Amino acid sequence: MAKIFCVANQKGGVGKTTTTVNLAAGLAKVGQRVLVVDLDPQGNATMGSGIDKRTLELTVYDVLLESSSVAEAKQHSEKAGYDVLGANRELAGAEVELVSQERRERRLKTALSAVKDDYDFVLIDCPPSLSMLTLNGLCCAHGVVVPMQCEYFALEGLSDLVNTIKQVHANLNPDLQIIGLLRVMFDPRITLQNQVSDQLKSHFGDKVFDTVIPRNVRLAEAPSYGLPGVVFDPSSKGAQSFVEFAREMVRRVGSM
Ligand code: ADP
Ligand code: MG
Repeated sequence: MAKIFCVANQKGGVGKTTTTVNLAAGLAKVGQRVLVVDLDPQGNATMGSGIDKRTLELTVYDVLLESSSVAEAKQHSEKAGYDVLGANRELAGAEVELVSQERRERRLKTALSAVKDDYDFVLIDCPPSLSMLTLNGLCCAHGVVVPMQCEYFALEGLSDLVNTIKQVHANLNPDLQIIGLLRVMFDPRITLQNQVSDQLKSHFGDKVFDTVIPRNVRLAEAPSYGLPGVVFDPSSKGAQSFVEFAREMVRRVGSM
């Protein structure tokens, strides 16, 4: 049965999408069956997996509005090595359209339960907000992976997300937990980043993943080729660290 993880952080530009597609490609590389769900209307995870969001006939939007199943709407990315339930701008309308509907925060959960035996991992790329879309992700997840940059305000921004996760855990999804904080775009030459990294470890203990993702330009270049960095340049430091992270996730899930 698939383990479902949200990649979430309400800040934009912190590395959610990069983490989602590269963790997915890393997991595929070590033999896991993976589905990426793009819950961001920007559709970056879709494009970054080599699926053209502009030509998609069915997306996660249709799944949320219950006019399509996941099996019908998903695409297979041959190059990336995993399946993608894509998104495009249409998804921005779902927020408003769901407001008047029943079980609106559980739409994705219901839809994913039909494919739970087809995958080992489902990774959900969340938008940079704590919206109805993110809530749909959190409602179906076993865990949340929080990518963060080791910067001065990193801890401050975290408290809103932690509170939301606590509320969802208490009211909607008792399975939900923060599986871990992932340090991304890390530059060990910067003293402040080392200090914040130490702070994170003393504050969150083993909730901080052992793997650290370095700042690496190959990871930033890969999306323009429609590929995860792990596939685009497997020998790069960034790609290697994401494959390492995939192994760490497999180990953590084994002990969940
Ligand atoms: P989010 O999904 O949280 O908005 P992205 O994953 O899109 O964040 O990352 C924001 C920007 O930072 C993108 O241009 C991406 O290519 C770049 N980036 C992300 N992770 C790294 C990294 N480890 N090294 C270098 N650039 C990165
Ligand atoms: Mg993103």
